[in-house]
Amino acid sequence: MSSFVRNQDVIPMLIGGKRVLASDGGTIDVLNPATGQLLTKVPAATAEDIETAYQAASAAFPAWSRAHPLERGKALRDLADLIEEHGDELAALDVMDNGSPIKEMRKDVDIAAAQLRYFAGLVSQVRGETIPTGDGRLNYTLRQPYGVVGRIVPFNHPLMFAAGKIAAPLAAGNTVIMKPSEHTSLSSLRLAELISDVLPPGVMNMVTGWGHTAGDAMVAHPGIRRLAFIGAETTGRAIVARAMGVNVKHVSLELGGKNPLLVFPDADLDLAVEGAIRGMNFTWQGQSCGSTSRVFVDRAIHDEFLDRLVAAVEPLKQGAPDDWTTETGSMINQAQFDKVQYYVNLGKEEGSQLVLGGQHRTDGDMKDGLFISPAIFSGVDPNSRMAREEIFGPVMAVMPFSGYDEGLALANDTDLGLTAAVYTKDLTVAHRFANDVEAGFVWVNDSSRHFIGAPFGGYKNSGIGREEDIEELESYTQVKNVNVWYSQ
Ligand code: NAD
Repeated sequence: MSSFVRNQDVIPMLIGGKRVLASDGGTIDVLNPATGQLLTKVPAATAEDIETAYQAASAAFPAWSRAHPLERGKALRDLADLIEEHGDELAALDVMDNGSPIKEMRKDVDIAAAQLRYFAGLVSQVRGETIPTGDGRLNYTLRQPYGVVGRIVPFNHPLMFAAGKIAAPLAAGNTVIMKPSEHTSLSSLRLAELISDVLPPGVMNMVTGWGHTAGDAMVAHPGIRRLAFIGAETTGRAIVARAMGVNVKHVSLELGGKNPLLVFPDADLDLAVEGAIRGMNFTWQGQSCGSTSRVFVDRAIHDEFLDRLVAAVEPLKQGAPDDWTTETGSMINQAQFDKVQYYVNLGKEEGSQLVLGGQHRTDGDMKDGLFISPAIFSGVDPNSRMAREEIFGPVMAVMPFSGYDEGLALANDTDLGLTAAVYTKDLTVAHRFANDVEAGFVWVNDSSRHFIGAPFGGYKNSGIGREEDIEELESYTQVKNVNVWYSQ
């Protein structure tokens, strides 16, 4: 086990450049979901701790926002270097904390560093514009940071979110309070140690704690005017209501998905099967907002596709997440495990056929963990709860369709609209679908991949705002318009 975890009874947070515990001494147990082992404890921050973090971030704001943008960019690049240097350790912490395979969590570290570098390179692009307002007048806009930004993130990509999601607000000149998930705080706290070497005290504060206490204190803080949330739709809606009850805040939301993947009869079936498996993110046990959990297949190829899919998913190697050959690991916690089991049983009750998996695995090195084998259902009624509700687990529903219109109607028949994927060789069908589908990100003959610089975010109940691109950077600024009359 990492010495970072072994040597500390409670791993401190970072507030105002100091390593601190919760003001009331409260802690949260950190369990390894793959073994059930109690690893250590992390602080359960109180509202008082959030206030201390806010004061520290406010105090750091004037100098940070006035620093030369290239200086801010350099600090972010230095952090990216440090993250890469400590990449193996950070990935190992994520693996023991959230049960996903090392092969995937190690990639998250590289993505986090790349995101920091991307936004570091954009510091000079935080630009205003000039607007013609008539002779003798100069009209221009300034993009100014909000001040203290609150960022709240979920459990499925702990380090990638904790590091990558501070890049844009910091690059734009804000100071930040980051709260990772109470289920996965380890890599964030190690990151906080690294941050102390490259960012001035108070510029970035890492606060661990429960959503309903620490998270709520951030949402309800009158001084935090910009909040960015990644998590469940229900939480996002509650946060907006709560925030707006306090004062007017800019809240952006990256929420859940029940994402369709359509396979047309002319599709390359090998590619489509591979895309459906990658899209479903079985590698994170389906715990991804972008999971293609609704797979619609043209009736003409439905049975063949299903056979090939099952044959390709069955051999996925499930087991100890720290084994580099493992392809799918353990659920994050008991609640998520129970939720998946609930939906597997519900699917059967609703009349769907479980054609693969959905079993609690206790064989080999999985005996004490929260392992459920990847599940595939067929014959699923598109109106059933299994087909409509986000499970956030390794459960895929395969359903038939006939023709473009029915396929599109089924794809759009959801309140969520995060991503969609389509497999076809027909360019007309591909572009028509990309235009018609109600989703914020569409893949054609591909799935799941993100591209730095390409906007990611949801339609409908999947969110407000876009991330991973320049729009994310700009969303951490407010526009001021200045009109000068100089011809008196
Ligand atoms: P969650 O909503 O339970 O928790 C997310 C974060 O919100 C955690 O840090 C939690 O402590 C905090 N929180 C919870 N209640 C709060 C409250 N009342 N006030 C303030 N903060 C609160 O989500 P989760 O279970 O950790 O993550 C799974 C969800 O996240 C899924 O719905 C998934 O689709 C979504 N997600 C979306 C994206 C995206 O980019 N759209 C990415 C990853 C995950």
